[in-house]
Amino acid sequence: MRCDQCDATITGEPTRTATRTLCHGCGETFVGLTAGYAATGSVGGAVSTARWYRVMRKIRRGGRS
Ligand SMILES: [Zn+2]
Repeated sequence: MRCDQCDATITGEPTRTATRTLCHGCGETFVGLTAGYAATGSVGGAVSTARWYRVMRKIRRGGRS
């Protein structure tokens, strides 16, 4: 199974949207975009929210290393 967004091979559970199957990373970005769009009503806000999601993930993962 491959990601519809980045064409990476998906290991584990894929993230399914209404129209696509995404890998974990793209799924997170998609969720961030959706949340950002809902919160700001603009694509620019959606993109910045998606980046914010990624930064938060990095902080949580890399906290101990
Ligand atoms: Zn992907």
